[in-house]
Amino acid sequence: MMVASSTFDFVIVGAGAAGCAVASGLIDRKAGSVLIVEAGPPDSGMLVTAPLGLVWLMGGKRDWKYRSAPQSALGGRRLKIPRGRMLGGSSSINSMVWFRGRRDDFDNWDVDGWRWSDVEPAFQAIEERMRPSRLADPHPLSEALQSVLGNNGTAPPTPEYESAGIFHFNMRRGRRWSAADAFLRPARAGGLEVLTDRQVDHIEFVDRKASAIVLSDGSTIRARKGIVLSAGSIGSPEILLRSGVGPADDLESACIRVVADADGVGRNLQDHPAVGIHYVGARSGYGPTVRQVPLWVAAPFRYLTSGTGPIGSPTVEAGAFFNARNDGGPPDIQVHFLPFMMGWRNRLIVPGSGYFSDVCVCRPRSRGSVRLTNRGLEIDLGLFTDPADLDLLVAGFRRLRQLMEEAPFGSYRGLEAFPGVDKVRSDEEIRQHVLDTAGTAYHPVGTLRMGEGPAPVTPRLAMKGVSGLWVADASVMPQLTSANTNAPSIMIGHRAAGMIAEDAG
Ligand SMILES: Cc1cc2nc3c(=O)[nH]c(=O)nc-3n(C[C@H](O)[C@H](O)[C@H](O)COP(=O)(O)OP(=O)(O)OC[C@H]3O[C@@H](n4cnc5c(N)ncnc54)[C@H](O)[C@@H]3O)c2cc1C
Repeated sequence: MMVASSTFDFVIVGAGAAGCAVASGLIDRKAGSVLIVEAGPPDSGMLVTAPLGLVWLMGGKRDWKYRSAPQSALGGRRLKIPRGRMLGGSSSINSMVWFRGRRDDFDNWDVDGWRWSDVEPAFQAIEERMRPSRLADPHPLSEALQSVLGNNGTAPPTPEYESAGIFHFNMRRGRRWSAADAFLRPARAGGLEVLTDRQVDHIEFVDRKASAIVLSDGSTIRARKGIVLSAGSIGSPEILLRSGVGPADDLESACIRVVADADGVGRNLQDHPAVGIHYVGARSGYGPTVRQVPLWVAAPFRYLTSGTGPIGSPTVEAGAFFNARNDGGPPDIQVHFLPFMMGWRNRLIVPGSGYFSDVCVCRPRSRGSVRLTNRGLEIDLGLFTDPADLDLLVAGFRRLRQLMEEAPFGSYRGLEAFPGVDKVRSDEEIRQHVLDTAGTAYHPVGTLRMGEGPAPVTPRLAMKGVSGLWVADASVMPQLTSANTNAPSIMIGHRAAGMIAEDAG
């Protein structure tokens, strides 16, 4: 794909969840000419639009397929870190679960202009476009969760109090409705230029002012008013580090010329640690069984005519929020529930019918980092480097087992197949199970946190130490929100556009 000019008022790097909202906001405000550059291809095809397609997207060519550094607390295990690499970014590969987070997540950020009262109107505005709604055709297993933890009626569970049930999703008529659908395509009609399949290598500075992006093929695109980094929590710090903006010691040891010594770049990486339980039963959730052959044969027709059935399922259908120790405190654990037979021990699909549920720590204390070394990019998730996260997940695992026992699954009920109640029962055994199998919920944030003092990005999202450069994506969150991170990322992009349009010279 070609663009008509090589100079724009604004150049946005990364057409992901936040980047699409930034582009739309700048176009709507008529802030000038805008180009958005995306490393991946367009988001066309059934695997993107049909919710179940995400199973095949992960690990495919539209996934960055990052892997973590060996995790010290996990005996050196390396974890998969999927990230969307196409228009829509991770909003085109994700499960479309929609949560704003807990109100005091934003108050606790303690950043001027980003408290709950500041961000709530932005959530309302983006929801006009994303239109999250209850899953139309949940599996009966998912429906059964609605009545546990105090019965939440037909409302989705919320991290504000203990609750369970069917989640809300950014889907329309059974198809994915990503940030590219809601923001990028309408903005394109308003004049936004879009460049796909072009990876940004670094940013060029003149007297510390960001003046151009340099693509991996060596070509240059200039920005008159500013450059916006929206390449996500891994991509944005990586580009900055390659551009010479970061901790001077690290840059020098990676043989990169220092433009600005910015200590916080790539630090403060956080993700929700997660561990799950697998259940198997003869008449249980979706899976490859002889009994379900008619269901799977009819599935494409059912999906194409009504958008329902297993192909219309984003796999995660329901879940819960609860307090791990059941001590009357606020929820500190999120549960995801998938009415699907899921493989364990590195097998994606195993024969049988069943379901899977996991627990994630809502507000982990552990921190990791994104660094450039002379061996290349190093993503250290830092999982369980704070032992409090492990203790909480062990308690959450126990309560999840209890919740799964209490749920009125009826004839769909399965038995715990992995790890198995006979094999993993004591706290010590659960702790070892967590260390052996835990991963993350794929919610990395925080690597370019905003704030006063040592934070590398200002509350107005400008990169400190240089000019003409803003950051607008999940990387600016000072701390994780208590649930899934897509809605907060889009909210950040939406608000960023207003700030950048006002502040750009
Ligand atoms: C498998 C998976 C499932 C998830 N499920 C959910 C869910 O159900 N609900 C939820 O709320 N959240 C979910 N998330 C998380 C959510 O999607 C992210 O938090 C959100 O998309 C982050 O937005 P972002 O704009 O920061 O980054 P992204 O959406 O990842 O966008 C970054 C964009 O920048 C591009 N880019 C990166 N580097 C470069 C470069 N050098 N040059 C050009 N372009 C570049 C990328 O290709 C990408 O398009 C999930 C994530 C994954 C991966």
